[in-house]
Amino acid sequence: ALEISNLQKFYDSYHALRSINLTVARGEKVVICGPSGSGKSTLIRCINHLEAHDAGTINVLGTALNDNVSNIDEIRREVGMVFQHFNLFPHMTVLENCMLAPMLVRKVPRARAEETAMAYLEKVRITDQAEKYPGQLSGGQQQRVAIARALCMEPEMLLFDEPTSALDPEMIGEVLNVMTDLASEGMTMICVTHEMGFARKVADRVIFMDRGEIVEEAAPGSFFDNPQSERTKLFLSQVL
Ligand code: ATP
Ligand code: MG
Repeated sequence: ALEISNLQKFYDSYHALRSINLTVARGEKVVICGPSGSGKSTLIRCINHLEAHDAGTINVLGTALNDNVSNIDEIRREVGMVFQHFNLFPHMTVLENCMLAPMLVRKVPRARAEETAMAYLEKVRITDQAEKYPGQLSGGQQQRVAIARALCMEPEMLLFDEPTSALDPEMIGEVLNVMTDLASEGMTMICVTHEMGFARKVADRVIFMDRGEIVEEAAPGSFFDNPQSERTKLFLSQVL
């Protein structure tokens, strides 16, 4: 589903990603963790070309991302993104938020878009809030709407960038439960998160980044119980 080879990213002279190599198979669940500023968001944002990269190759669902990428909209249709701060449209209801992209981008007829939206809102257990505006919902509810909205495009892959880190503790579980359901249904997922319980339970592979590099990657069992690098050990001692 995803192949990244020797990826380099600079912000002016700052070297944010240093030779990242990463392959994610269809249906695989990858958790990315690491300290603040290590390049996790930058990596996620390069995958759907919210950031352009400077060298190396990124191949998403069989298409290479490069400077003259003309089909980026096609790729974004297949790669859903869920952000830390939800990024819902505040002036639209929950239902309208979920219907917009399928109607605009996929040209799905209104009635069909509404049907699909209600189905995914049911999946995230929030159909009763469909007519409300995002500002009327709790953070956990808003994030579940954001996940439903991404699912309404019927993507091949979902990217999550710290989806629970802006939430009050009591709301984290409801969002992680939805993500766990998606994982069990075979969705390809790349999740930046520090929810290590989720990583242990759901991830096929955990990746630790530091200073723009992938320092370590392993199946969750060996990652948590037998980390190899000193930097990983230090990080885990701080988050576990
Ligand atoms: P966090 O855990 O705090 O979200 P992160 O691992 O997601 O951190 P990034 O946001 O990818 O880190 O940032 C990596 C580095 O690149 C940081 O040093 C950051 O300051 C820098 N950076 C990120 N975005 C930009 C930008 N638009 N312009 C300049 N520098 C940036
Ligand atoms: Mg980040």
